[in-house]
Amino acid sequence: MKPQVRNTKQKTCIQKIFQEAIGPLGISEIYALASKDVKGIGLATVYRVVGGLVDSGEIKKVNIPNAVEDVRYERSDTALHHHHFFCTKCNKTFDLTKCPMASDLNKFVLPGFKVDAHELTLYGLCANCHGKK
Ligand SMILES: [Zn+2]
Ligand SMILES: [Zn+2]
Repeated sequence: MKPQVRNTKQKTCIQKIFQEAIGPLGISEIYALASKDVKGIGLATVYRVVGGLVDSGEIKKVNIPNAVEDVRYERSDTALHHHHFFCTKCNKTFDLTKCPMASDLNKFVLPGFKVDAHELTLYGLCANCHGKK
């Protein structure tokens, strides 16, 4: 049995943030969103709650290479194979619904090689930032 994590107002608030997230969140984003809901929530509390949710397997760490915050978090139950889009203007990360690399990647490697996995992050401007130009 997993240790019971105390069900605090802070934890409920951060769980809700992850329910509504459209992509992986960095600590500063979680902190900003949580501050709107729970007045006076501290950054240390956000770290502690996020750490607890990682330990219980509810969320997991995602690495977004070259992003402002390259360590982000997303819900484990939505973590089926997918990729991310990073907006270089607002620094938000979005989930992609389809894998653009679904074709047989073995044809791109040297003879005798076998591909087991791949990673892909797309970079650019989200609709919001693109429209503001
Ligand atoms: Zn953006
Ligand atoms: Zn893929």
